[in-house]
Amino acid sequence: MDTDRKILCLIASRLLSAVSSEYEYEHTDVSLSCKGINFTATGNAVVEYGYRDIERNFRASIKTEEETENEKSLPSGLKVEQEFAVTSKIVSHYTSPPKPYTEDTLLSAMEKAGNNEYDTDEVERKGLGTPATRAAIIETIIKRGYVEREKRSLISTSKGQALIQSIPEKLKSAKLTAEWENKLVLISKGKADSTDFMNSIKDFVTDFISNTEVNAQLPDINKKEVIGVCPVCKSNIYKGKSNFYCSNKECNFALWKNNKFFETKRKAITKSAAKALLEKGKIHYKDLYSPKTDKTYEADIVLEVNNGTAFFRLDFAKNK
Ligand SMILES: [Zn+2]
Repeated sequence: MDTDRKILCLIASRLLSAVSSEYEYEHTDVSLSCKGINFTATGNAVVEYGYRDIERNFRASIKTEEETENEKSLPSGLKVEQEFAVTSKIVSHYTSPPKPYTEDTLLSAMEKAGNNEYDTDEVERKGLGTPATRAAIIETIIKRGYVEREKRSLISTSKGQALIQSIPEKLKSAKLTAEWENKLVLISKGKADSTDFMNSIKDFVTDFISNTEVNAQLPDINKKEVIGVCPVCKSNIYKGKSNFYCSNKECNFALWKNNKFFETKRKAITKSAAKALLEKGKIHYKDLYSPKTDKTYEADIVLEVNNGTAFFRLDFAKNK
């Protein structure tokens, strides 16, 4: 019964909203200059709640606590050329690099690739590959060693990076696929000639082969990827099956992927983690797991070397 009443109230409130006065607000854009650096702020000041009043009342009636309005408001009475006294301090924050693709996000990126290059909506095949072939394309690039799986993430290998660097821009662009797809549609409608299209493809390939310089500095794609430098003997560290190992046979230094210290914190020594540990001696995490509290916390994991063996400890020093 209570649910019925609420639904009836919702309908009534919607109807009242629809016929009530407009929501009016003043929008302010402020630009401030401090020591030659420009800052901007925007804010809305409500003049008349109008139909929103009814919405607010309705929401308040079904909830025990009133929702806090998250409208950003600026101090009233701002004037042009107004001056403010400011105090400032420098705080350090951590940024996160863009998240690597997972299979899902890569599939959707392939689907959308170059979509804004199409002039017409009538193209059936947009993006790279087809729904049926996209997953297989990803498997192929993994099988050929251009990309590696790291948990759910897909990470490009040095071989993959070398390949993409050596391919001319035009061939990498989803625009090329879009152009060809457009032509195929025109041919199917009888608006373009298939022989012309085939000839232009032949010309393209001939021109491409004769004008593309083979990149002499192409990195040796079979060369092992250097993860970092050994903190013990300064030799290169390579990625092995179960660890990141020192290339110097006399040296026993290694970072083992199965590591209890990381595991209990629900982390793993991934390739990017190993790189950070070797380069900076530490790695910052925002969400280390604590089995004691069942919560996560922020800290650095610091790499220390004792008798040629890696040890880890936590460092909370930089947390704010
Ligand atoms: Zn070493």
